[in-house]
Amino acid sequence: MMTQELDDEPLSLVIVKNDEQVIAGSQSGALYTWNWNTWSDYSKWIGHPNSVDALCKLDEDTICTGGSDGLLRLITVSPQQQFEGILGDHGEDFPIEKMAVGFDEKYLASCGHDLHLRFWNIEFLYENTKRKQQETATSGVNKQETNEPNTVSSPIRINKFDPKDEKLDSLLKSNAEWSKAVTEADPNFFKKLAQIQEPKILWVGCADSRVPANQLVQLAPGEVFVHRNIANVVCHSDLNCLSVLQYAVDVLKVEHVIVCGHSNCGGVAAAMGSGQYGLIDNWLRNIKDVYRFYEKELDEIKDSKERLSRLIEFNAIHSAQNVCRSTIVQNAWHRGQKLTVHAWVYDLENGLVKRLEFSHKDPAKLPSIYACQPL
Ligand SMILES: [Zn+2]
Repeated sequence: MMTQELDDEPLSLVIVKNDEQVIAGSQSGALYTWNWNTWSDYSKWIGHPNSVDALCKLDEDTICTGGSDGLLRLITVSPQQQFEGILGDHGEDFPIEKMAVGFDEKYLASCGHDLHLRFWNIEFLYENTKRKQQETATSGVNKQETNEPNTVSSPIRINKFDPKDEKLDSLLKSNAEWSKAVTEADPNFFKKLAQIQEPKILWVGCADSRVPANQLVQLAPGEVFVHRNIANVVCHSDLNCLSVLQYAVDVLKVEHVIVCGHSNCGGVAAAMGSGQYGLIDNWLRNIKDVYRFYEKELDEIKDSKERLSRLIEFNAIHSAQNVCRSTIVQNAWHRGQKLTVHAWVYDLENGLVKRLEFSHKDPAKLPSIYACQPL
């Protein structure tokens, strides 16, 4: 038996869905799919800009494609073929020839024309699948009956900047790849986003390079309005921060303001000490004021690391309180606008965010000295 002649050269092959589906990658970049034994009928999905030279099954619903553009792409095949993200990169001029999953399902190996074998961590895919299987087993619901798509986590790229790249070429290359990948996943993504932004969240965080707002809560461009400064300080006279707050609340109508501190914050640590750092000392005075408010409790903490952690939490809470005390937020609440203010802290050691004991959504709990009459 054989399929009919294609108008495109098939280069790679994989069998999935418990041997029920055959997928071929082609010269034009399309994926052709046949159900076993129905060789006269196929579906065609044009999901790659260049030829698909290698294919590898990750599980019955997920495959990895290796392209002549050097990219490894993660594709779900059920309930429909869909691009999920880039798993790895051999370099633009280095087509990928072969891929295989290791026996313990931790790594996907690939080889390409760049003269390297490369290994990509794919453990998270299987953790996700196992978790889903457990959830399904616990709830007693058959996944097929619910018709739930078998989603997988989006792969994460962790690139490192090469200081020798003085012209920043690598950044522009990464940007072009990112733009291409996003467009492949959703051809209208940038077109829609260029028209309007409708974020529901304002993030006030530290300028620290290790605390990127969108990335750590896994939200796409357009989802979070962001203000960052040294040590996530919100003070009553900072026109920059207040302007961001006013635009976010009055114009964008965000529904949540998150003030997020982070462990081992250099700004808060500097405010705890007596060293001089220049102009920034005046900014850090705001945190010294926070220390003074909680002086008794902080002074009782003998361990300096613990004391710093507690001041980081107090500083985030104090900034969140100042958000609530602003006329901007009070007026929004008076208008009946839905708006909750949160204080969080992010742990650099494990990448996890913790909620602090602070979440306000009405003016009732404001100290009377800060409460304004409705306009
Ligand atoms: Zn910081």
